Amino acid sequence: MSLIKGETGDWEIVMGLEVHAQVVSNAKLFSGAATAFGADPNTQVSLVDAAMPGMLPVINAHCVAQAVRTGLGLNAKINLRSVFDRKNYFYADLPAGYQISQYKDPVVGEGAIEIELKDGATKTIGIERLHLEQDAGKSLHDQHPTQSYIDLNRSGVALMEIVSKPDLRSADEATAYLTKLRSILRYLGTCDGNMEEGSMRCDVNVSVRKAGSSALGTRCEIKNVNSIRFVRQAIEYEARRQIEIIEGGGTIEQETRLFDPGKGETRSMRSKEDAHDYRYFPDPDLLPLVLSEEYVAKLKADLPELPDARKARFVNAYGLSGYDASVLVAEKETAAFFETVARGRDAKQAANWVTGDLFGMLNRRGVGIEQSPVSAEHLGKLLDLIADGTISGRIAKDLFAAMEETGKDPAVLVEERGLRQVTDTGAIEAAVRAVIDANPDKVAAYKAKPSMFGWFVGQVMKSTGGKANPKAVNDLLKKMLEG
Ligand code: MN
Repeated sequence: MSLIKGETGDWEIVMGLEVHAQVVSNAKLFSGAATAFGADPNTQVSLVDAAMPGMLPVINAHCVAQAVRTGLGLNAKINLRSVFDRKNYFYADLPAGYQISQYKDPVVGEGAIEIELKDGATKTIGIERLHLEQDAGKSLHDQHPTQSYIDLNRSGVALMEIVSKPDLRSADEATAYLTKLRSILRYLGTCDGNMEEGSMRCDVNVSVRKAGSSALGTRCEIKNVNSIRFVRQAIEYEARRQIEIIEGGGTIEQETRLFDPGKGETRSMRSKEDAHDYRYFPDPDLLPLVLSEEYVAKLKADLPELPDARKARFVNAYGLSGYDASVLVAEKETAAFFETVARGRDAKQAANWVTGDLFGMLNRRGVGIEQSPVSAEHLGKLLDLIADGTISGRIAKDLFAAMEETGKDPAVLVEERGLRQVTDTGAIEAAVRAVIDANPDKVAAYKAKPSMFGWFVGQVMKSTGGKANPKAVNDLLKKMLEG
């Protein structure tokens, strides 16, 4: 358990996250307007999205299917009957004066996901619900000195609000939860998980309590944190702030706060409204959403393999450690890359190359695996060249660097650059003989100190440009030094 030290003792953070995940859909939740990111302001707005009088919403079946698929991916209960409600509030970027959301009867009920912690342990985090709702427009306050502009492109875009139970106890757990949730959404293809473009936004409910206490403290909600790194910073700052207030004799006011990424602080935005302030009521323009069991069963049967199942398969089929398997399945592109490399080859060696040399190279270049200059097919061929003795393990590192640089097939590079391993015993024997003859003092030292052996191996490898077969070098050295 990760506790925070205060002046009066240890404190525990209690947290739940509300994630707004934009549904991958070409059209909005209740209109046919487009949803592409980055379009010119107010070019993707239908009369429904602009709340023109008399316009009626029509539910987008594709968005409903994505919400149900996501619910299934979160091991959650699918509610065959759910209701769309109006959540009433006034803001200039909400032209209807209400948001269509789901309140008492969401489309998805309780579920759970498993998160992996740094020490290798796993923890189950409860999902409270997932409901469908529409996004609001966007107010632009920085375009004009005295006026605000409104862009309604986002108005009506389908969101899934995924609410966790207050099961999270540290910034590490919150980070692991968000990472896992994003991974599941991406495997399902229901949300692209792109926090920078705002297609996944996170509200964090934070409270603190004395270690060992089971009472819940008053919570503050930090709105719209848009990166996993900021979520961590916001939690750490907010927990510390609350502890200091309580230890100073004060009390926590329930409120909505904003995270300022520049300062790394949260600040008060408004006192927290309660649900009844929104005057929720069923939207009279929409019938209850009724799904059949067959419809849900069909979506369930068509789900892709999800991260947990893939991890288990990687452990069982490839003999990988749980840790390696989780690293490889976190992004589905990485998992696919690994499988291309591993198929029909030494899977453990494939995992080492992917998580070691390949990840190192991608990090250095600051690119994702889709932009890797070394393809999975080529990395597989490199492993074949090691396995059939064409190159030594040491030369493989140089070859990999050449592949990164040129993008060429490793077999071609081996010939072009003369990297083929020397397995011809005559040539290796000559190299060994030359090293022994040139270093009589070292040979004498070796007799007294057998650990000198490695020095001889190094010299022979050096004189052969690293291309001598290491096993042949070892065997011949042993024979000739002792003979
Ligand atoms: Mn919401």
